[in-house]
Amino acid sequence: MRAQEVMELLRATGALLEGHFLLSSGLHSGRYVQCARLLQYPWHAEAVGRALAAFVRDLRPGAVVGPALGGILVAHEVARALGVRSLFAEREGERLALRRGFALAPGERVVVAEDVVTTGGSTLETAEVVAAQGGEVVAAVALVDRRGPAAHPLPFPLFALVRLEIETFPPEACPLCRAGLPLEKPGSRPR
Ligand SMILES: [Zn+2]
Repeated sequence: MRAQEVMELLRATGALLEGHFLLSSGLHSGRYVQCARLLQYPWHAEAVGRALAAFVRDLRPGAVVGPALGGILVAHEVARALGVRSLFAEREGERLALRRGFALAPGERVVVAEDVVTTGGSTLETAEVVAAQGGEVVAAVALVDRRGPAAHPLPFPLFALVRLEIETFPPEACPLCRAGLPLEKPGSRPR
């Protein structure tokens, strides 16, 4: 699956939004990615999972782990394509954890799966959870890599279907505010 095809799929499913958005960081942006819009179509989810699996098949992972919620469906589809287990990490208080009796074999090779990697923070945190359970993270995969220069360095490769530059602005220096575009909170707009 070429990056161009993935971009077209993101646009066609309404996963790539253009406008004026208030991000959870408090910054403003003209673009926003909501991968759940793409993943709501199981056949598209399966196709992107297969494409991501191709990046990591030779690393022979025994399991794929995604952080809830965004990583769950991606992990599931990548794991399906690889024929391995799909696990998810979820919040337990402030921290991510593997719950529900999920376990990894000592030294088990693991791929971390995400929908969008922005700062790398949740990817790293998921990798720490895997390591604490005795697993070894061999790579991460994501539909979209939109890391900026301030992102956390990752101690393993990250494979993404598309690399997106999404410019963000502090409210006081936002050209979209200056242009008078109404500000919206992603997720609040009805379709
Ligand atoms: Zn603005």
